[in-house]
Amino acid sequence: MLVIGGGAAALAAAIDAAAAGASVRLLDAAPPALLGGNTRHSRNFRCSHDAPTPWTPDAYPPAQFRADVLRATGGGADPVLLEALVQQSRALPDWLLAQGVALQRPAQGPLPYSRRTAFFLGGGMAAVRALADRALALGVDMVPGCAAHALVLRGRRMTAVVTDQGSMSAGACVLACGGAHADPAWLARHWGAAARGFVNRGTPHVRGELLQWLLAQGAAAAGDPAGLYLVAVDARSPAHDGGIVTRIRGMPLGVVVDRQGRRRHDEGADTASTRYSRWGQRLAAYPEQTGWLVLDDPGLRAAPAALYPPLRAPDIASLAVLCGIDPAGLEATFTAYNAAVRAPAQSDAAAGWRTACLDPPKSAYARPILEPPFAAYPMRPGVTFAHHGIAVDACTRVRWTDGTVLENAFAAGMLMAANLIPQGYVSGLAVSISLVFGRIAGRAAVQAAGRPAAPLPEPDQGHFERAEPDPAGPVT
Ligand SMILES: Cc1cc2nc3c(=O)[nH]c(=O)nc-3n(C[C@H](O)[C@H](O)[C@H](O)COP(=O)(O)OP(=O)(O)OC[C@H]3O[C@@H](n4cnc5c(N)ncnc54)[C@H](O)[C@@H]3O)c2cc1C
Repeated sequence: MLVIGGGAAALAAAIDAAAAGASVRLLDAAPPALLGGNTRHSRNFRCSHDAPTPWTPDAYPPAQFRADVLRATGGGADPVLLEALVQQSRALPDWLLAQGVALQRPAQGPLPYSRRTAFFLGGGMAAVRALADRALALGVDMVPGCAAHALVLRGRRMTAVVTDQGSMSAGACVLACGGAHADPAWLARHWGAAARGFVNRGTPHVRGELLQWLLAQGAAAAGDPAGLYLVAVDARSPAHDGGIVTRIRGMPLGVVVDRQGRRRHDEGADTASTRYSRWGQRLAAYPEQTGWLVLDDPGLRAAPAALYPPLRAPDIASLAVLCGIDPAGLEATFTAYNAAVRAPAQSDAAAGWRTACLDPPKSAYARPILEPPFAAYPMRPGVTFAHHGIAVDACTRVRWTDGTVLENAFAAGMLMAANLIPQGYVSGLAVSISLVFGRIAGRAAVQAAGRPAAPLPEPDQGHFERAEPDPAGPVT
C-alpha cells in the first residue's frame, strides 16, 4: 500500500494500515527536516466527549460539535462525513496516546481553557515525531524527499503511482498530500495579482500536484478554489513556514490603516479570539494586501505578544514615514478618530468606549490613541489552508465527475477537508479531520488492496530512520 504525504492524515493512515497487517510505504515530498507538513505547526484538535477527561475539561457532546461545524461552515458540511468525524473524534485522544503522542493536561501550562479541543504536549512537531516513530516501529517504509506526480489508472482502479523515483505499483493508495495553496501559480489563477501579497504560514510542499492531476483526469472537486482560510500575520514573516507565532492579534486596542492612512473597518467589532482570521480576509482586499495596526504606548503594552518588535516613533507623522504610510492621511485619521471617541456613560469598562459620527465606527474599546511613543505592526494575509480539494464518498474513495469512484484510491486530510469545511472554520477542526479520515482511509485501503503477495520494491534512496531515544527522556 502506498501513502502519499507526511502529515497527520498520512501518518494516521500508515499506522492503522500497518497495524492491520499491510505492507506500507509512505512517500513525502518534503525532506526529513520538514517531516510533518502543516501538522508540525498545529497545537490542538477538536474532539467530542461526554464528561471531563484528563485532556479536555467539562463536556463537548456530539450535538454541539455537529452544530459548531454546521454554523461555522454555513451548513455546507457533508452530513455523512460530519457524523463520522464527530463520532470518531471521541477516540482520538486514546488512539494518539496509544501511538506515543503526549497530550497537555488542561489545567497546566500557558494554553487557553478549551473544552472543545485537546492540545498536543510539545505542539504538532512532537506529535508528528511520535507518530513517525510509531509508523517506523510498525514497519512502515518512510521515504522522504520523494514526490508523487500521478496515478496509473486502469479503468477506475489505481495500479501504480508515478513518483520521483519511478513508477511504484501498489494494491491501494491513500492520498494525504494536502491542498494546493503553496503553489504561487495556483494561487494567482484564483486570486490574480493579490496572491503576491499573501504569506504561506505552513510548508512550501503542499503544491497540489496530485490534486490538480486528479481534477484534470475527471475527479470531482469539493469546495471553492478561491476559498482560503486567511489570518492576519506580520508582513515581515518568512514566505513559508512562519507557523503560529507570526499572528497579529491586538486590533481592538488600536486602529488598522492602509497605505493611505485610511481606516476601512470597525476594529471593535471582532473581539473574540477569531479576530485575526477576520482580519486575514479583510487584508486580502487592501491595496498591496498590506495594512498596519497602529497603537499608542498603553495599547502596545496591553497587546498580545508578537514575534517581531513593532516599528516605533515619537509621533504619528514620523511613524507614517517609517512605515511607508501617507503621513497626512494617517494624521487626518488620528485627528478624526480621537475627536470621535466617546467615554461610556455608566462605567469605565474598556469595551464600552466607542466612537460617534465616524465612518467606519469603532464600536468597542475606542480609547483615545494619544500617548507616545506610537507603534505599528505591518500585516498581510497568511494562508493556513484552502477550502478546496477532492470529493470523496463515505469511506474516502476519490469520487469521479461521472458518479463513479476510484476503487482503491482514497483521499484523507486537507486534500478532502473541503467536503466538511467548504468555508469558515472552527479551531482544531483541521487536525481532527486529518486524523479521523486518515484512519478511515488507511483501514479502507487495506481492505481494497488485500494483503500484497510480495513486498514493495526497494526505492533508490533516502529513508527515514527511527529517532534514537532522547537520553533526557520523552517530552511528557
Ligand atoms: C501555522 C499553522 C497552524 C495550524 N494550527 C492548527 C491547529 O492548532 N489545529 C488544527 O486543527 N489545525 C491547524 N492547522 C491546520 C492543520 O495543521 C493542517 O491543515 C493539517 O494538519 C493538515 O494535515 P494533512 O495531513 O492533511 O496535511 P499536511 O500536514 O499539510 O501534510 C501534507 C503532506 O503532503 C506532502 N506532499 C504534498 N504534495 C506531495 C506530493 N506530490 N508527493 C508526496 N508528498 C506530498 C507534504 O510534504 C506534507 O508532508 C494549522 C496550520 C498552520 C499552517
